[in-house]
Amino acid sequence: MQAVAAISQSALAHNLAVVSAHAPQAKVVGMVKSDAYGHHLDLITPLFTADILAVSELSEARRLRPLTQKPILLLSGVFTEKDLQEAIQLNCHLVFHDLSQLAILMSSQHAVKLWIKIDTGMHRLGIAAQSLSDVLSQIDNHKHIQIECIMSHFACADEPMHPKNTQQLDFFNQLDTKDFYRSMANSAAIMSQVKSQFDYVRPGIMLYGASPFANIDEQLMPVMELSAPILSTKTIKAGEAVGYGATWKADKDTRIAIIGIGYGDGYPRHAKNGTPVLINGTLCTLVGRVSMDLICVDIKQTNAQIGDRAILWGNDKLRVETVALHCQTIAYELLTGVSTRVTFTQRA
Ligand SMILES: *Cc1c(COP(=O)(O)O)cnc(C)c1O
Repeated sequence: MQAVAAISQSALAHNLAVVSAHAPQAKVVGMVKSDAYGHHLDLITPLFTADILAVSELSEARRLRPLTQKPILLLSGVFTEKDLQEAIQLNCHLVFHDLSQLAILMSSQHAVKLWIKIDTGMHRLGIAAQSLSDVLSQIDNHKHIQIECIMSHFACADEPMHPKNTQQLDFFNQLDTKDFYRSMANSAAIMSQVKSQFDYVRPGIMLYGASPFANIDEQLMPVMELSAPILSTKTIKAGEAVGYGATWKADKDTRIAIIGIGYGDGYPRHAKNGTPVLINGTLCTLVGRVSMDLICVDIKQTNAQIGDRAILWGNDKLRVETVALHCQTIAYELLTGVSTRVTFTQRA
């Protein structure tokens, strides 16, 4: 057993409660796409108390269905008759985001709950606002299709002062959405754009204890703790280099630990010299390049021994957001990137 990702059940429950504290009036769509942001669908049971769970594609709905009876929102919707049938069997609500999906939906002989996604300015998924009334009138008298919600998505919610947020929200508010539920807010909007919360909120990253913003949010509790054992220690003489490419050189005699994790486990290869690693409660620093199976860490500030475990992220002293900053990426990518070689377990 080398690298371990331990998934905190109490942190999941806590973060879900933080969502409700921010948006007490709204129903919650628990975003569990991409294997629950890399946390593994079978290890995030506390999130199954959300009102509905969302995945990106049918293969994910298939894996989620045996684990919970909650409805599943299928973000990509369906494009074929066959997928429509399976989605209905899996008790999915379908997102309708492209006009080319309408014919398949209209062919349904079984009850379908639809979320109509409007492009309010992100220009990724979503139908144009001008198409909405036409679509609604076509669906209006369909025996089996029930419209559950009108939804849209922010492009810049992680920058609360970005003018695009207000533009998109105003645009959405001007739509004729009649009696349908409405949904716009991801984690960043839940925390910073109260007026976008509407009837359903769609938290993702905050459920896993990471902030959607540039700063850390102490209210949220890290869910995944990623750790790996020290396999060796040694002293590098002043002037000697460590690792591939010899990119880091000891300026004085330096004790280092070699740790059993690398980019083959999903630890980012772009992590720079100086990226923090937590060993026995002390923040130490990465030295040299990340290799496939190993990293090297300066341990002159702690008397770490072989067998001690290093925490790569997921602790109050070392959050995944901090590691992300050191490798020019975001917490989302690090969390979803932990590989199958890592052993996943539950923790309290
Ligand atoms: C992933 C996703 C979310 C959640 O975003 P976070 O930033 O993780 O909260 C919300 N809505 C849609 C449509 C998404 O694809």
